[in-house]
Amino acid sequence: MKKRISTLLTLLLAMSLLPVTAIARTNDKPHTHTICAKADCADNHEVKTWTAWDSTDALPNEAGYYYLTNDIITENGVNVIDGVYICLNGHIIQSVGKGTVTLTATPACDNCGLTDCTDTVHKFSEREDGLWVLNENSGDKTVMGAAIIGSMLIASDNMFEMYNINAVGDDGAGIFLYSRGNVLLENCMLAGNNGSHALNAISPVELRDCTIFKNRCDSAVRVSSEFKIGGAITICGNVNADGKSSNLELREGRTVTIAEPLSEYSNICVSTEAVPTIGNPINITGANGEDYSAYFHSDNEDYKIINGENNVVQLTEVNPKTYPYTINSLKLVSAGGGEYDEIPTNTGFIVDMDVTKIAERSGQDYFIVAAYDDGTLVSLNYIKADLPTGTSFSCGVNMPKSDTPITNIKAFVWDALGTAAPLAQSAEI
Ligand SMILES: [Zn+2]
Ligand SMILES: [Zn+2]
Repeated sequence: MKKRISTLLTLLLAMSLLPVTAIARTNDKPHTHTICAKADCADNHEVKTWTAWDSTDALPNEAGYYYLTNDIITENGVNVIDGVYICLNGHIIQSVGKGTVTLTATPACDNCGLTDCTDTVHKFSEREDGLWVLNENSGDKTVMGAAIIGSMLIASDNMFEMYNINAVGDDGAGIFLYSRGNVLLENCMLAGNNGSHALNAISPVELRDCTIFKNRCDSAVRVSSEFKIGGAITICGNVNADGKSSNLELREGRTVTIAEPLSEYSNICVSTEAVPTIGNPINITGANGEDYSAYFHSDNEDYKIINGENNVVQLTEVNPKTYPYTINSLKLVSAGGGEYDEIPTNTGFIVDMDVTKIAERSGQDYFIVAAYDDGTLVSLNYIKADLPTGTSFSCGVNMPKSDTPITNIKAFVWDALGTAAPLAQSAEI
């Protein structure tokens, strides 16, 4: 009998090539799925067998595919090293250290990533400042799947992939991408963060089927690098500390590349660093095969989205600005009343500004004159006044003698120095 069993075992081993331990531990089903954990993966991902990782405060330091069997609560954050892929298996990774980055993938995480194959529910409560705080018992913000609570710093050299992960409850810098490679976020949700950004992309990133909403940040997504999107993308419903819409912020002339077609429920609210005017719209995307403009919205009501040539989505001004004041003229005069043809050197002078108030406004406004040296502010002076509507007046703003050469003079009308909302088209000498 004994011999028969061992023969059978030998036979089974030969047939299945299963390690002996797998047979001995018949209750342990191997943890297998693709990196994206999708049943209908269209990306040719291979099915991997993931090894159990039981630590409660660290990630593996050897390349491989692992799944968490516990939540990871860390003081100093955890690091994903080159070649490590983690299935969070519905768990959370959270930093409890003050100001700590919860998860880093640096330095030189050539190929690494995170995924989740579960629909585990985590609950959060919203703090007064918009931050979502883990509250598994009675939180009313529900997150489906694994969550990383806190900032992430990604510095992949080649490719960092993140599938099915929630990045929630960070009051720092959000997900900060600082890589020479590419980062892919697929089916991820970034919500309930209240730092400077939920996603700060200073290096290339692609978003597929991602939702970024309910963050209270300076801007939820700040882009100053290559930025690709596809599928169902929501980047709307984020506000800044003043409660103003602040969603996708395109800086340094960056545009959105629609790498895969956007699906029906996409919703992208956008602003640009450059200021659009009626004649000079700002490109939001590159050229497209179809009109995607309906998916985009302007964060600022002074601007609107249009579909430009080659289906480039653009931001343009809604109406030419009408200001309550017009600056009629700007003259440079001496204390004796003589007019200068050009900006005098080695002496102080007076800037004479002639203004008409054309629209009703109450209260005092600021009539400002600024002197510049090649764009650098040298001096600034102002007069505060409340004019009757429909009248013009001239004011003389004294510019003291300056050691720095003055290359140009500008005049503005503002509501206040702090807010600096323009009340007139500026004038320049
Ligand atoms: Zn896949
Ligand atoms: Zn898994």
